[in-house]
Formats: sequence, structure tokens, C-alpha cells
Amino acid sequence: MALVTTKDMFKKAYDGGYAVGAFNVNNMEIVQGITEAAGELKSPVILQVSKGARAYANHTYLVKLVEAAVEENPEIPIALHLDHGDTFELCKSCIDGGFTSVMIDASSKSFEDNIALTKQVVEYAHANGVVVEAELGTLAGIEDEVVVEAGHESYTRPEEVEEFVDRTGCDSLAIAIGTSHGAYKFTAEQCTRNADGILVPPPLRFDVLEECIKRLPGFPIVLHGSSSVPQEFVKMVNQYGGNMPDAVGIPEEQLRKAATLAVCKINIDSDIRLAMTGNIRKYFAEHPDHFDPRQYLKPARQAVKDMVAHKIQYVLGSDGKA
Ligand SMILES: [Zn+2]
Repeated sequence: MALVTTKDMFKKAYDGGYAVGAFNVNNMEIVQGITEAAGELKSPVILQVSKGARAYANHTYLVKLVEAAVEENPEIPIALHLDHGDTFELCKSCIDGGFTSVMIDASSKSFEDNIALTKQVVEYAHANGVVVEAELGTLAGIEDEVVVEAGHESYTRPEEVEEFVDRTGCDSLAIAIGTSHGAYKFTAEQCTRNADGILVPPPLRFDVLEECIKRLPGFPIVLHGSSSVPQEFVKMVNQYGGNMPDAVGIPEEQLRKAATLAVCKINIDSDIRLAMTGNIRKYFAEHPDHFDPRQYLKPARQAVKDMVAHKIQYVLGSDGKA
């Protein structure tokens, strides 16, 4: 199977009441960990590349790594997606350079400017067989070069979604219902604490999601900033010399619920970073004499694979859907 767009993936996910995981890739070990898990569980998967990933690893290296993953996993559909494209030129460069899906994120612009830029990208993408994700509403948090300070985020306004989708022709829509980028999704003040002293974030705005679904029946919705920041990995990081106090994410049961509704794509990045970093820190602490990168990247890659397998089975519900 060659690289695919997300069109069929989303149709099946919508009808089947599950979501497809979109995982950010930055190097070979991450690509391998994600696709080995998806391959073994017969799950469709989206590999996504941010502007920062392209700056770090280079467009050509990333595309070739993904092509290798496609060749190694012929039984599952894999899409290659640009995460948070912020200009027409960046989207065009990815469309011309082998991506099957791009996101144009003009959510920080006015409604009219967002429509104009999204429409421009949609026209070029569709002419080249590529699909487009757009965004309405803004998430708090930090992801590569996307920074929105707490208090400056805004929920998607459901009364705008129909007109936006209609006028832009976008293929899927990222909405803001309380998810957030990064490993520090909420301040301590926004949360309550459970009996173990762990921060519990405010619940997602399912009322906003349901209102959007009503207005866009059958249309695929996307959730960004949907890592759960598992406390076992925060603990591992902190136990082995790290310093990540009060890192907090979105509870997995809320994402599972979203996946059964119209949410067809759930973006997960921070959890992979945490799992890798926790395991590398542990490895260094336990083997201070080792210096071969393969020694510590092997458990890091395994941690990525285990994390993605967990998400596919218990959060996304996409296992066996390839
Ligand atoms: Zn995002």
C-alpha cells in the first residue's frame, strides 16, 4: 500500500465510532516505534510533521523515513500530514514534496482571513490530490512555534463551523473544546487535586463538540493537544534527574468518549516525548558506563511503541481497523 490520504480513514472512523491517531515524527526511532505498533495491531495511522520537525530533521529525511515505514508495513494505511502549516508556501512545499494531507492553521487570524487562506490552500491541495485540515478556535499551550498563553485560548464557536467548512471546502476541522498543547496543559489554579495530590484538569467541553456535530453531520472533527501526560512517565523523568513538576494532560477516558463521537483524528505528541525521555533518563542513571546511542535509543523506541499500542487499543479504538 502506498501512502494514502485521510479521506477513507476518516469515513470509516466516523462510521465505526473510533479515531485515528496522529503522532508527530522527528527521527527514525519515533517513526519505527509508531508504525511497528500500528502494524502489529492492524491500525490505520497518521504520521505528522510540524514546521519544527522539518527544521530539525529536514523534509527529505522525514519523507524517506516515512516511505520506509510504508514499505515495511504494507498491510496498514499510513498518511503523511503537515501539522500546523502557517503559510500557503509551507503547505505548498509539503504538497509538492509528497505529503498526502496538510493542515493550514490560520486560527489566530480573523474569521474572514482564516477562510481566505484556508480556501487558497484547499484549492491547491485538492488540485494535487491532497486533503486539508483547518482550525477554528485556538488552543492554549506550546507546540513548536505555536504559542498561545493561558487565558488567550478560545473555544470554537459552533455557529461559525458550517459557514467556514462551506466556504473553504476543507476536509476536516480542528476545534477547540479545552484540549491544550504541551506537557503543562493547565495551571494548578485551573485544576483540582485528587487524593494523591495529582492535578485533575477541567473537563472537555462536550457541549461545544456536540453542537458542532449537529451542524456538520458526517464531517470529521480533529482534536489537537490530546496527550494525557501519564503520571508514570512524569514520575520516571523526575525520579531520574528531571524536573517536570505539575505536568498534566487530558484524561484518556474523555478522549475515548470523543473518539466514539465525530472526532476522527486525535493528535498525540507530548506523551511520546515523555515516554522516550523518561526511559532514556532511566537508562543513563542505571548504566552510567554505556555510551553507544543504540543502547539507550532501543528502550526509547520500545517506549514509543508501547505508548502508541496503548493509545490505539484503549484511547483511539482503531485496532483491527486497517
Ligand atoms: Zn496542534
